[in-house]
Amino acid sequence: MDGKYYVCTACSLLCDDIEIESEDNHITTVCTACRKGLSRIQICNEPMPCTLDGNKTDINTAISGTAGILKNAKNPLIFGLGNSTEGAQKKGIELARQLNANLDDTSSFCQGNVIESILKGEIQNTCTLDDVRNNADVIVYWGADPSNSHPRHLSKYTYFPRGKNRQKGYDEDRTAIAIDIRESSTVEICGNKSYLIPPQKDEELINALIDALSGKVPKVTFDFDKKRILELANTLKKARYGAIFVGLGLVYSLDNLNPLKRLLDKLNDVSEFYLTPMVGHYNMRGFNQNLYDETGYINRVKFEDSEVKHGNEYSVVELLKTKSVDSALIIGSDPMSSLPGYIARYLNEIPVITIDPCETLTSKKSKINIPSALTGVECGGSAIRMDGVRVDFEPMIETSNLSDEEILTRIMEEL
Ligand code: SF4
Repeated sequence: MDGKYYVCTACSLLCDDIEIESEDNHITTVCTACRKGLSRIQICNEPMPCTLDGNKTDINTAISGTAGILKNAKNPLIFGLGNSTEGAQKKGIELARQLNANLDDTSSFCQGNVIESILKGEIQNTCTLDDVRNNADVIVYWGADPSNSHPRHLSKYTYFPRGKNRQKGYDEDRTAIAIDIRESSTVEICGNKSYLIPPQKDEELINALIDALSGKVPKVTFDFDKKRILELANTLKKARYGAIFVGLGLVYSLDNLNPLKRLLDKLNDVSEFYLTPMVGHYNMRGFNQNLYDETGYINRVKFEDSEVKHGNEYSVVELLKTKSVDSALIIGSDPMSSLPGYIARYLNEIPVITIDPCETLTSKKSKINIPSALTGVECGGSAIRMDGVRVDFEPMIETSNLSDEEILTRIMEEL
């Protein structure tokens, strides 16, 4: 070990206690990272090839080709940047402005509405993960399975660690609750504090909990023991410092966030509760924050001269569904894998450029592929953690690949 601590960028927990050993610029040992982090740190030994029309090419040709496509496009799309540094995100926003492009990221179909509510101050009761570690006695994972999505979440910040005001640890000082529709690994850990409900019934459970917290008889239309709702309400009410982690399962189940906001208000009438989104990509919150600072919107924008338009019609889903873009620059994302096939299929009809350290389904179908340095491993920068805390990081090893930020800068120079 070289005595330094590095940051893992495999999820938005951005663990900053990673130790490595390297030999001849190859990482030979990784300590502290979970299995997910380990697999990201190790892929830097298998870079994506630089290609044009399926044939290997050099970086200069790939960048010139990219600039040519974007310059001739009438309505280009820039998509991704949730797995890029803040420096690259700012560059991506600048490029979108210069090109009069549409700009969107995965938050438009996942946690975006939760982050937007926090940035706009509509949800004010939010706290840092360090606050949770030091203070939380009741932790609720709702529609989230951190044991698989953010494997060190429970051990580093919530259930298992001792904190400043939680010295007795999980066995005496903390209660972890999982609310989900299936027997996930996190549900297993939470044991008899897990509550399994049918799909799409989250709002009903929220309303029942609000009733129970208000001293009314809770009602639900699905088969569920009312005593368990009262028991859950009682645990929440008795919390001295509660933390709710909102997963995709909950976000997808609600038409809007109003029920969740009402529950948070009610919980803060009877106790003290904070909410944090379980952001997936390591810097998706950074993308939302940086675009918000620049335009007042967190995603789904279209630049038009000095104007910034915003709306669902500028989301990646709508733009591909309506076939209204004529080229796409994809940065650190894989829409061919993450979007339904009937929507992503349109990417086969337009020139697509992918900037990514790894081969993806999208890169395999792209006209141009530009391999980038793997952030956190081969290049440094900064990112915003799921709880809004900015984290700086340095590279673990060197690479000849350019970073996302450098590639975007080179493309802008060629326009
Ligand atoms: S929990 Fe996330 S950030 Fe931490 S080591 Fe695992 S993948 Fe990396």
